Amino acid sequence: MNIRKINIIWIVIIFIALALTLYFITKTATCSQKYNNSYKDKTSTGKDTIQDTTRDYLINPILITTDPEKEWYELHFDAVLIDAHNDLLYKVRHENCDFYSKDSKTQTGIQRLEEGGIDIQFLALYIPPKHFNRSKAYVLEQIDLLNNLEKKYQNSIEVAFNYSDIKRITQAGKIAIMMGIEGGTAIEDNLDNIDLFFEKGVRYIGLTWNNSNKIGVSAKDEANGKKGGLTKFGKEVVRRMNKVGMLIDVSHLGEQSFWDVIETTQDPIIASHSNCYTLCQHYRNLTDKQIKAVANKNGIIMINFLDWFIVSDAAKDSKNANEIYKKEITEIYNSYKNDKIKYYEELAKFLEEATPANEVSIDDLIDHIDYIKQLVGIDYIGIGTDFDGGINPPFDLYDATCFPLLTKKLAERGYTETEIRKILGLNFLRVFKEVCG
Ligand SMILES: [Zn+2]
Repeated sequence: MNIRKINIIWIVIIFIALALTLYFITKTATCSQKYNNSYKDKTSTGKDTIQDTTRDYLINPILITTDPEKEWYELHFDAVLIDAHNDLLYKVRHENCDFYSKDSKTQTGIQRLEEGGIDIQFLALYIPPKHFNRSKAYVLEQIDLLNNLEKKYQNSIEVAFNYSDIKRITQAGKIAIMMGIEGGTAIEDNLDNIDLFFEKGVRYIGLTWNNSNKIGVSAKDEANGKKGGLTKFGKEVVRRMNKVGMLIDVSHLGEQSFWDVIETTQDPIIASHSNCYTLCQHYRNLTDKQIKAVANKNGIIMINFLDWFIVSDAAKDSKNANEIYKKEITEIYNSYKNDKIKYYEELAKFLEEATPANEVSIDDLIDHIDYIKQLVGIDYIGIGTDFDGGINPPFDLYDATCFPLLTKKLAERGYTETEIRKILGLNFLRVFKEVCG
C-alpha cells in the first residue's frame, strides 16, 4: 500500500467521522425541538419555561393562573376538556345532520366542539329500539360511519385507542374521538364481542340503556317496578370488561344492578352521563350511597346537561337562550368574533340578564358539581353532556360553544385552577389510564 493510498483512507475516515458527528448533533437538536413542542408549550401562555423531560404535561400540567376568575379564558383553553357522552353520530345517520358544521339541528358538530375547547370527545354508539334485534351489527355500522368521517375530517379529528394516542392527537391540535356503546344488547350473548369492540376502539359500554337486557335491569324498568339486578351473564360481562380493560358505564343501570357491578368489578367504574338524585329525584341520577360507592372504587360521575336531570320540576318543553335570543347572540358573535375573550364576556353578561329565574341555568348544573365535591371530594367529577341526545340543556349553556362559560362560572364560584382542571378532564384521564391504559 503506498503513501497516497494511506492518505486517501485517512481522508475517508475523517470524512465519515465528521458526517457522523454532524448527524448526531442534528438528531439531538431535533429531539429537544420535539420536546419543546409538548402539550404545555402548544397551549400555555408561556409563563413557565421549566424544562422537565419526565413530566407528563397532559395529566400533570403546569398551573397558569394566579386568579382563575380573571384568567378563566386562558385556563379553559389550556385545560384538557373531555365530554364523555354525545349522540352526534345518531343525528348524522338518522336525521341527516352535518358532522362538522354548525348544523341548526345539532348542539355540537366538530366546529362547535373546536370553538368550545373540547380536547377529547366520546361519541355514543347508541342503538335505537328498532335495531335491538341486530344490535351488534348496528354498532359495527356506526363504527364504520365514524371511521369514514375520520378520513373525511382527518385534519380535525382522530380516533384514539389509548392514553398515548390521546396525548399525540391533542398535541397535534386535533380532537381525540373515542367511542362508548350505549346499551349492552350490543354484546348479544357472546363475551368475545367485548374483545371485538375493544379492538375496534370502543372504550366504554353502558351495561343497559333504558331497556333491561341479558346483562341486567335498567334504571327505567326498575323505576317502573321491575325487580332484579345483574344476571349471571351480566357478571361475566363485568369480569370480561375488567380483563379487556374496558370501562363499565353504570349511567342507565337499575340500582340493584349497580350494586351487583360494585360487588363484581375489580376496576373503577364510570357514570358517563348522570347527576345527583338528592338534588333531582330522577331514576337516571345517583343516590348519595351510589356516589360514595363510585368514589370508593376510584371511579367518576360525569355530569349530564339535560335539564330534567338537573332540576326536578324543569319544564319538559323549556327553551334555551339560543332559541329565544338567536338574533342577539349572533350580533354579539359578529361584533366580537375577532376577540374571543370579549365575546364570551359580553355573552355571559347578556345571558346573566336574559336567563329567566325559573329556567335551569349553569348555576343549577354547578350545584350538582358542588354536591359531589362536598360528599366525596373533587376527584370524582367529570362532564358527560348528553348533547345531541335530544336534551334540553341549561338555558345559558345551549350548545358546545358555551363550554368556556362553564369554566368562567366555576371560577366565579370559587373553584381553584386545579379543581377546574380536574372536573374538565384530569379526573377522567386518571380513571381512563388506570382501566384502559
Ligand atoms: Zn343515555
